[in-house]
Amino acid sequence: MSIKDSFSEIFDNKNRVLIILGHPDDNEIICGGIVARLLAEGKKVRNVAMTNGGKGFQNRTDVSEKEYSEIRKFEQVEAGKELGLAEENIFNLDIPDGELEDTVENIGKVVFHIRQFKPDIIITQNPFDPINAFNSEIHWVNHRDHRHTALITIDAAYPYSRDRGFFPEHFTKYNLEPHEVSELLFSDAYAYPDVRYFDITKYINKKRNALLKHKNAFTPEIVEEEFLEETRLESGKNFERLKYIKI
Ligand SMILES: [Zn+2]
Repeated sequence: MSIKDSFSEIFDNKNRVLIILGHPDDNEIICGGIVARLLAEGKKVRNVAMTNGGKGFQNRTDVSEKEYSEIRKFEQVEAGKELGLAEENIFNLDIPDGELEDTVENIGKVVFHIRQFKPDIIITQNPFDPINAFNSEIHWVNHRDHRHTALITIDAAYPYSRDRGFFPEHFTKYNLEPHEVSELLFSDAYAYPDVRYFDITKYINKKRNALLKHKNAFTPEIVEEEFLEETRLESGKNFERLKYIKI
C-alpha cells in the first residue's frame, strides 16, 4: 500500500506556519522538506530555535561554548536560506544549550512570536515521551531541550497567547494583539499509529543542501545515512513525519 501524503489536508487552508524547536539544526532535520514545500506554495514560515546549540561540540577542545554557539546560529541562518527562508524569518532565542527550562518567562518568549507572527499551525517537538521510539528496536532519549520546547509551546498556544491577562506588555509596548492557534504538529512521533506523512520528494535536495550547512553539527555521512535515509519510506519517494493534534 502506498503512503498517503497529508500535505494538502493539513496545509491547504493555512497560510502561516510557525516552527518552534529546541536547537539550531532541528528545523532542517525534522521538517526541512516540509518548509521548502510550504515556501514553494507561497506560505509564510517562521523558524524559531529556542537554544543556541553552544554545547554540541562533543569532544572538541578547540572551541568555547560562546564561539560554538555563534557558529551554530550562523549555520542555522545559512541552512534556512537553502530552504528558501528569508533571514528575517529565522530566529534564535539564544538560551544556553541544555538549559532550557519550562518557565513562564520562556513561555512568554514563544507567546511573543505567536502574537507577532499569528500562525495558523505550529510545528514543535514531542511532548509525550521521554524516550523516542523509531520502531520496536531503535530508541533514544528525547532531548531535555526538545521536551521542554514542546511543553512551553503547547502552553504558549493555550491559553497564554490567547488571553490578554498574560504578558500585557506585548500590547502596551509592542502593539501586538492576542492570537489563538489550535492546531499543532509534533516531531519524533514515528511509532504513533496516527502519524501523518508529508511527501517531500521534490524538495529532498533542498533538505540535503540545508542539512549540509550545519557543518559543525554533523558530517555529510550522517546527513545521508541518518537524516535522509529515514525519509526514504517508499521506492523513489521521501517523506517527513509529524503527529497532528487539534486542541
Ligand atoms: Zn535538537
